[in-house]
Amino acid sequence: MNITLHMLTDDPEIAVLAERYWAIDADGRFQERVRDLLPFRDLRQSSQVTQLLREHCRVFDENQRCPRCQAAIEINSRSAVRSSLAGAHRPCDPCAARLGEAMLQARAQEERDLAEQLQAYMQAQPVSAPSYSALADDSALLLLALDAVLAPRLCTAEFRTTECHGLAPAHVPQFLDRLRLAGVLREEPSKASEGTYYLKNGNLVGRPASKVYALAPAPSGEALPALIKAQHGRLFDDAPRLYDLWLDYSVADCMAYFEVQAALYAHELFEEERAEICSILRVGLEHYCVAQLWSVIWRVVRDAASLARHTYYNRAKAAATIPGKLRRYIERARREALEVRCWRRPEQQPAGTLGMVFEDLFGLSENSAGSLAWAAFSHRSETWACLPSEPETGALARRLMIRSLSADQALASIKQVGEALASGVPLEHALAQALERLPDPAALAG
Ligand SMILES: [Zn+2]
Repeated sequence: MNITLHMLTDDPEIAVLAERYWAIDADGRFQERVRDLLPFRDLRQSSQVTQLLREHCRVFDENQRCPRCQAAIEINSRSAVRSSLAGAHRPCDPCAARLGEAMLQARAQEERDLAEQLQAYMQAQPVSAPSYSALADDSALLLLALDAVLAPRLCTAEFRTTECHGLAPAHVPQFLDRLRLAGVLREEPSKASEGTYYLKNGNLVGRPASKVYALAPAPSGEALPALIKAQHGRLFDDAPRLYDLWLDYSVADCMAYFEVQAALYAHELFEEERAEICSILRVGLEHYCVAQLWSVIWRVVRDAASLARHTYYNRAKAAATIPGKLRRYIERARREALEVRCWRRPEQQPAGTLGMVFEDLFGLSENSAGSLAWAAFSHRSETWACLPSEPETGALARRLMIRSLSADQALASIKQVGEALASGVPLEHALAQALERLPDPAALAG
């Protein structure tokens, strides 16, 4: 034992008491029990003596050294004494104070940096949305779904990501970010709760789930409700963009089910594995509908769970096999034309307003495979409707149908083709003549 005492009083009796309290014999044991030091003046309890000595005497254990400056560490109880030289787990008090000060300064600097970066981030956002009439079809469709979730507050107040749960079964932050990137939504960092934004390696990061958004004002200063209402009257004929949004939505619908199943079997997955599963499902959706992929997910997750019980497997290893199993199963099902059963939509997983908009506008649901979705989008536009393998008459007929419907001339076109055929005009010419009579939407747009 190697104890140094620093008396903070001139009282000789207290100094003697302190010497006796901390005196140690050759075997490293305290020479006297605390209660043997009693009574001391009017003190009759051990705890009172201990308290008195703490007030008037600082004790340093020379066997414990500060890891930063090697000074002896201050102790305040007998139990803290070390019998042999050892590095202390904590720094000495002066070093701790200096460290605390440095940490405070670093935190204050970090807060200033964060405020500066947030300010720059807010200023970099566009002041107003791009023209609402020039919005791409996917943004317009998403906007209608968001309006349905927040009705009637979308145009009047900020909203949190957590208020938009009803938009889609999963991936709501990604859908909102899609609208932000399109300039329709503005992030409102000043309205978000503390901790939403932070710096990671000096870069500004926001927690997607706690972000706050508001609708970007219209450039013309027009009333937002009227602009949103006008989106209902769109033709919605940009097939590639609509298809891309539909795939994103359907992947989210699959992943909501996947997360429930994975939690049921306590599978823990890394973000990279989740991203891989999303990619596999996205490709799978070109041939299978969401309801079929639910049954595939159910099978694959259950198989991985039974694997976890094998001797050479554990939960983490078994969960890591899920992406590979999923990919192999979908590939095999396609190659061998296996029947993939459809699951019914789980009760606790509603389609969300985005799903409802797809159903209302295009008749698509969890039972629609990608080929059907593409057909539903592409049949609205001559640009996307024609298939390269189609014979010329087929392409003409398809174009005639689309153009007749958009010009509200369906009956007149059929009559004209019928009359032309009756008078002996070949089919191809009859179709071409009827097509010529109708206004060309591409020419009108140009
Ligand atoms: Zn120190």
